[in-house]
Formats: sequence, C-alpha cells, structure tokens
Amino acid sequence: MQSAIQFDPVRLPLVAQHLRADVRTFIAEEVTAGTFDPNAGLKSAMFDREFSKRVGAHGWIGMTWPRAYGGHERSQLERYVVTEEFRAANAPTWSHFVADRQSGPMLLKYADESIKSEVLPRIARGELCFCIGMSESGSGSDLFAAKAKATKTNDGWLLNGAKIWTSNAHRADYMIGLFRTAPPSEDNRRHGLSQFLIDMQSPGITVNPIEQMTGQHDFNEVVFDDVPIPDAHLLGEPHAAWRQATSELAFERSGPERFLETFYVLTALVRLLGERPDAREAEGVGRMVAQLHTLRRMSVSVAGMLEAGKEPVLESSIVKDLGTIWEQALPERARHLGAFADSAVGNLHDFQDLVDFAILSAPKFTIQGGTTEVLRGIIARGLGLR
Ligand SMILES: Cc1cc2nc3c(=O)[nH]c(=O)nc-3n(C[C@H](O)[C@H](O)[C@H](O)COP(=O)(O)OP(=O)(O)OC[C@H]3O[C@@H](n4cnc5c(N)ncnc54)[C@H](O)[C@@H]3O)c2cc1C
Repeated sequence: MQSAIQFDPVRLPLVAQHLRADVRTFIAEEVTAGTFDPNAGLKSAMFDREFSKRVGAHGWIGMTWPRAYGGHERSQLERYVVTEEFRAANAPTWSHFVADRQSGPMLLKYADESIKSEVLPRIARGELCFCIGMSESGSGSDLFAAKAKATKTNDGWLLNGAKIWTSNAHRADYMIGLFRTAPPSEDNRRHGLSQFLIDMQSPGITVNPIEQMTGQHDFNEVVFDDVPIPDAHLLGEPHAAWRQATSELAFERSGPERFLETFYVLTALVRLLGERPDAREAEGVGRMVAQLHTLRRMSVSVAGMLEAGKEPVLESSIVKDLGTIWEQALPERARHLGAFADSAVGNLHDFQDLVDFAILSAPKFTIQGGTTEVLRGIIARGLGLR
C-alpha cells in the first residue's frame, strides 16, 4: 500500500551549494558594515527597505519567477538556500519576505497582465512590502466566515469592514486581501470570497497598531471605509478565492522560516556552553540539533516537491506543525541547559536576555500561518481519517 505521506529524499544541487557561499559572503559584508547583528535575535529591527533593495540587486527576490517579470528563473531549491541563510543569520528580510514568498507568486498566477508587468519587477528589486489581509475578528482559522465585503460599482469595487492581526500593514505598500463578494452558495459554504490587490495608500484605509507582549509592534487592525479598488485589481476568478488561497499554503507553511525563528537561541546556547560542555549539556544540544536536522530534511523534501510542480499540502502541514512545536520549545529547553553554565565561558546575561525575549515571542509560532489544531485537521483529512 502506498503511503499518503511522501517525503522524497532530496539532495541540494551543486549550484545551490555555490549560491550558499555567495549568500554567506553577502551576509558577512552586511554584518561588517553594521546593517544588523546576527547574534541579537529577533529583538533587533527586522525591517530594512535598503537591505531588501540590496538583496534584490543580487537577484535573490523573485528567484523562481520568469525573467519577463523581473524574476531569475532559478529553482525552488536555490530559493530555499537563500531563505535558510538569511533566517539562520537573523537578516532583516521583513520588508520583502511576504511579497517574495506568497504575494508575488499569487500575482504571477492570478493578476491582470498590466499588474504583473508593473508590480512584480518592483517586488523583485526589493522596493515593495506586502501584507496579507485574511484574518478578521471572529474568522481567523475559519477564513470562509470572512465578513469584510467588496461591493461592485460601475468601474470597480468598494471595500468595507476590518481585518486583524495584519503583520506589517503599517509599513506595507500593498495588501492582498480576502473579501466577501457574494453570499455562500447552498452546496459550497466557501463560495463568495474574492481576493484583491489593495494599494495601502488608498483613501478610506485606517491602520490601527496592536502591540505585542514583547513590546514590539508588528501587527495591526486595518479598517476599510468605502475604499475604491479598480476592476483590474481583482485577482483571479470572482467568488472563488478559496481555491486560490489553498494552493498558496504549501508555499507558506514549509519553508525554513517555519522552524528557524528561535534558532538564534540555539547558537547562543552553543556559544555559552563553549567548547567543553558537560555530558548533560552536550546530550541536550545534540538532541535539539538531531531534531533540527530531521526537520530540515523534511522541509527540503517539500521544496523539492514544489520544484517538481506538486502541491504537497499534507507534507507542508506536517513540517509546519512539527517545526513550530520545535522552535516553540527551544527557548525553554535552552534556558534549562544554560542555567548552570560557567559564566566565565560565555556571556550569561546576554544569553538570558535572548532567552527571555524568545520565551515571550514563542506562543505565536503555533498560531501564525495556521494553528496547530487546524493543521492536524488537514493532516487527518490527508490521511483519510476524517
Ligand atoms: C504573529 C502572527 C502574525 C499574523 N499575521 C497575520 C497576517 O499577516 N494576516 C492575517 O490575515 N492573519 C495573521 N495572523 C492571524 C492568524 O493567522 C490567525 O490568528 C490564526 O489563523 C488563528 O485565528 P484566531 O486568532 O481567530 O483563532 P481562532 O480561529 O478563533 O482559533 C481559536 C482556537 O480554536 C482552535 N480551532 C479553530 N478552528 C478549529 C478547528 N476547525 N478544529 C480544531 N481547532 C480549531 C484554534 O486552533 C485555536 O486554538 C497572524 C497571527 C500571528 C500570531
């Protein structure tokens, strides 16, 4: 019997290994120039438009897209290496990351030709920041209950309602937003939602900040009050966004960013323990690294399947579920292992500071990009269990 779960072993091609060396050189130059501190973790500013433009100039945004739209026609595996190196180094990629990972591919697939030629090259040059307007209060996991609506006018649409938890909305140039354009049909409760490209400077948009318990401000409530949208900004088929949104998920859920968000704590722990950790410390670090190695192989395998044109929704949900649990548990496990470290070896105070911050930010990992429970529902369905 063939298993419903398939993780083909994938070896990164030589071209990806060379690329890795180039990315590391670039990162080292940026660190030397003072752009960011790789040891500061996510406490440091992760949003830097000028850095994104330099990444774009190297051809590392829109890597897999056609050259006609500013892309570079490289493979998913090469893109994987770039994402992995930036994430592991805590490089400030937030200005371009969402556009590169999911908004650009969405536009490539569903946008009007005029938008593709105008917007995609700008994303690839690192000039544009995108946000995702899906969640609403009362419809986070259940996106198909969205109430914010788009009403047809003579020459376009008018948006009304509110989105919540919108990461980077206060900095973004564009949003790709999900709006109700028709009621659900009797045979399909997911019918009736459409996706739009929204210029965040449009009149009628108000962005209200939401502060996290870390003290940072990354996400927002976005209120729409008669916001006009041209017809050409409707993405794909009207009322059929559910079909489009689900194919996007394999890209969103399986990348190295889904398990490396607290990686800086692991590297800080290794620095703290020094070259001669005791047996208990070595065993603890070894266990975490072995788990990371397995996660990484699964995640690379999904990248290989994406490269082969498959839609590994089940496998990417498994990577996201296991990955976020791993990165969520990491700070607490590191705190235990580092608690008795010899403070003469590493800087205990800096380590504790990083761990404290990571513990405060860790709860979000199993919520963002699909909650653990919802992912398990998808996995169960993929296995034919529900
Ligand atoms: C850091 C961060 C950034 C985010 N950025 C964005 C963004 O940029 N854009 C955006 O649109 N959203 C964003 N979100 C929102 C996020 O995707 C939603 O919060 C998430 O989908 C959960 O929705 P909710 O908070 O409404 O919880 P609910 O959907 O109300 O869920 C509450 C609880 O019920 C459980 N549950 C819900 N449905 C089921 C089910 N069918 N079966 C079993 N259990 C279930 C959930 O697992 C959860 O534990 C972000 C969230 C975080 C934490």
